[in-house]
Amino acid sequence: MITYEDALERVLKPLLAVPVVSLSLTEALGCCLAEDVSALVDLPGFDTASMDGYAVRAGEVSRSGVVLPCRLEVAAGRVADRSLESGECARILTGAPMPAGSDAVVMQEDTEREPDGRIRFNDGVKPWENVRFRGEDFRMGTRVLAVGQRLGPPQLALAAAAGRAELRVHRKVRVVVASSGDELRSPGATLAPGQIHDSNSVLLTTLFRSAGAEVIQVPTLPDQLEATMAGLESALSMGDLVITAGGASVGDRDFLRPAWERLGGQLDFFKVAIKPGKPVFFGTLRGGHLIGLPGNPVSAFVTAILMALPALRRLQGSAEVGLPATVGTLSVPLSNPGLRRHFMRVILEESGQVRSAGVQASHILLSMARSNGLVDVPPSTEWPAGTPVRVLRWPGV
Ligand code: AMP
Ligand code: MG
Repeated sequence: MITYEDALERVLKPLLAVPVVSLSLTEALGCCLAEDVSALVDLPGFDTASMDGYAVRAGEVSRSGVVLPCRLEVAAGRVADRSLESGECARILTGAPMPAGSDAVVMQEDTEREPDGRIRFNDGVKPWENVRFRGEDFRMGTRVLAVGQRLGPPQLALAAAAGRAELRVHRKVRVVVASSGDELRSPGATLAPGQIHDSNSVLLTTLFRSAGAEVIQVPTLPDQLEATMAGLESALSMGDLVITAGGASVGDRDFLRPAWERLGGQLDFFKVAIKPGKPVFFGTLRGGHLIGLPGNPVSAFVTAILMALPALRRLQGSAEVGLPATVGTLSVPLSNPGLRRHFMRVILEESGQVRSAGVQASHILLSMARSNGLVDVPPSTEWPAGTPVRVLRWPGV
């Protein structure tokens, strides 16, 4: 049995990022950059009014009570047709370029229009007040995004503002999900005695989809060697990474590992010293990769988070492969009397308080569905309330 860290290293080692494509900004949502992005323009592109009001020479409106004629106007998307002369002001709207000769904007609320149309300034202004400077956000040529960065809405908006319409990114990773077990029936199906609904396919399909993968769900692998071999062979040809759930242990009807080995697959490890999810394996065959998760729903969930999500991120070309974590504080004691480290389902409150999500056995879905994090509790450990803990998170919580 190997440690979790060792297992993760072995999973990540042979994985390379998937090929690079050019995608439009909105198509690139969730993808990771395969290039550094440098700005093609300055932002702002010109000295800009940040308020609706009047552009002035600040030295001429340093105190309240000044009255100036207004014969020039500039709106967003336009430029003034001449410079601002001494002794006048210009009507200006938010986002408009500052007319040459002006160096401040007095906001509209601090002004009044005289009966003769001139503008009275009820407040003084300092040089460059209410002006956004050219290049204040970034200059042309500045590296604004880096290789390996994941593209969410703010990053994509930045790329647009920096002048880009398309980005070089790693294409979506195709994850093939297969459940294993003769007892499994589709969600909603009427069950004969001994049968259960397949929840793992739903869990894994949606987990990887929320992590940005394209998921292909294949028919359930039956508890039979040749059929499992055929199912694995076809799954391998469909995607970048195959994830199975069930049939991975040492029971008489657990055919995943024998099928993999009969196909000629390498078995990198089998069994990791964690709870839940000890019988998890990783293998490589003809450049394809398989992570065999245990069948118990919570074991499948925890091992998918601990092993398969980092693998997915590596394939996606992400600079970050680790899981996001939040530090919280136990509001009640948490203990692991066992001899393996236990990744326990917890509820992390917005206040930062952390407590167990309920019964921790690997077949209990209710506590899994209540949880929004996992805490890695070492063997033979009793943590009192008040202990600071690191809560591992997954996409979509
Ligand atoms: P296995 O790893 O195949 O021995 O399965 C362990 C336990 O998980 C058994 O009780 C299975 O019935 C259950 N199980 C396996 N696959 C699934 C699945 N896709 N959905 C729900 N339960 C499952
Ligand atoms: Mg089974």
